Amino acid sequence: MVEELSRETDVVVIGAGPGGYAAAFRAADLGLEVTLVDVREKPGGVCLYEGCIPSKALLFAAELVSEARRAKELGIHFSDPRIDVGDLRRWKEDIVENFTKGLQGLGERRKVQFVRGRASFEGSESLRLKGGEVSQIRFKHAIVATGSRSSALPGIQITSDRLMYSSEALELQEVPETLLVVGGGYIGLELGTVYASLGSKVTVVELTDQLLPGVDRDLVRPVEKRVRELVSGVHLKTRVVGMEETGRGLEVEFEGEIEAVRHNFDKVLACVGRKPNSVDLGLEHTNVQTDENGFIQVDSQRRTGDQHILAIGDVAGEPMLAHKATREGKVAAEVIAGQPSSFDNLAIPAVVFTDPEVAWCGLTETQARSEGRKVKVSRFPWAASSRALTLGRSEGMTKMLFDPESGRVLGVGIVGCHAGELIAEGVLAIEMGAVAEDLAATVHAHPTLSETLGETAEAFLGQAIHIYRK
Ligand code: FAD
Ligand code: NAD
Repeated sequence: MVEELSRETDVVVIGAGPGGYAAAFRAADLGLEVTLVDVREKPGGVCLYEGCIPSKALLFAAELVSEARRAKELGIHFSDPRIDVGDLRRWKEDIVENFTKGLQGLGERRKVQFVRGRASFEGSESLRLKGGEVSQIRFKHAIVATGSRSSALPGIQITSDRLMYSSEALELQEVPETLLVVGGGYIGLELGTVYASLGSKVTVVELTDQLLPGVDRDLVRPVEKRVRELVSGVHLKTRVVGMEETGRGLEVEFEGEIEAVRHNFDKVLACVGRKPNSVDLGLEHTNVQTDENGFIQVDSQRRTGDQHILAIGDVAGEPMLAHKATREGKVAAEVIAGQPSSFDNLAIPAVVFTDPEVAWCGLTETQARSEGRKVKVSRFPWAASSRALTLGRSEGMTKMLFDPESGRVLGVGIVGCHAGELIAEGVLAIEMGAVAEDLAATVHAHPTLSETLGETAEAFLGQAIHIYRK
């Protein structure tokens, strides 16, 4: 009989994604004894292994391909790229391997005990582990950071290698000749762009009447235009109602605004949202509560209904973004260490890494309208930015939402190349309670795209140099 290996720890963190490893490292830095548990061999979570990082590596490759094609507008002619999928896959895997190894080293130096296994609660102070050397951990505090997984395509039961979710798509086994992307959200547009740039004929179907539902339409427009140029079809108000494996692919049946109700594809990528990993965690043996969507309910300190257990990241609610998980991880660790921390951030940036990128933070125009909030919106078109012109990217736009009385910055939205980098200034402005004058009087380097933020604030004040309003 195998002897049961049991451990005791101050803090156990379940799940070593960007929420979990940040929590574990912060707790260790605060002098707590920490054990970090994950089913994977090394820390990193979905973000490193099958999310943010591999997708951004492949998007960089896609960008290189499209920039090389675009170069002919400048009189520079490259021949068509020859893509070695094996080399590209290895390059992406090396990035992941490098970073997860780095995280493992950082954990070891902090004396965080990394334990492999699938954890579930036996009670409010103990965990059962399967699949590793340790079978039980008794703890004073636990932080649940188990993340999320892809939602299944509703109404479709088949199992087929041709039906992929984001994890399989990121493995990049091959570049299919034809690819159907179901869902025009973050993943659909990012990975749809990757496969289209690598040579697949991509079709996108989206249930609602716009790509990136919920995002301000003026921010989505330039992305939609570019996506339509890149792929062979975008069908809004359309959904998949049937799918069948045939000898030559997947025969897909549609309902909605699409001409052909049936079509054959080599592969299908389903990306219709994600759901929290809160089942099979033994939460019924604790006082932790979940909501109707399975998210663990937490307060502003990320405490659950159980005094020994906190929860962070995707499993603890929207938005399901890595940087939100990381911030929550730090808060949870500080709360356990007795600090008065709380997740009181005013702006969580969102970035869709399409070409052009879309980024926003704080209040959006769509939200303001639905809440009936009075705001003043100021826009600066990138056609008036000299930097955008030198990059050949004048399709971008920067906009800001201000409180009409105080001029306080309430929200920022940017569409254009590098929008994901530029949004940081907007986040800081909102967190610092900045008003339009603060941004207008800040000197932005010339020629940079960051000037568009200053000019958007100047436009609100009626002072923008590069746009004229009587
Ligand atoms: P995760 O990263 O999901 O990690 C959870 C960990 O818990 C996993 O390692 C899992 O193995 C482990 N685990 C689960 N259950 C158990 C258990 N019972 N016992 C032990 N271990 C367990 N977000 C961004 O901000 N920017 C992006 O660019 C971005 N791109 C993305 C691209 C894709 C394709 C996907 C799928 C997601 C992307 N996201 C992005 C979202 C981001 O990956 C998540 O928000 C983030 O990973 C959540 O972090 P987390 O710490 O909550 O959990
Ligand atoms: P999503 O919510 O962004 O998009 C899903 C899309 O699928 C929506 O537009 C929805 O209307 C559509 N849809 C739902 N059911 C459908 C159906 N039956 N037929 C057709 N369309 C349907 O979800 P996602 O793209 O799967 O990504 C999941 C989450 O992962 C994101 O919400 C985000 O939190 C995170 N993520 C973030 C990034 C990033 O930060 N850049 C990148 C990828 C993923």
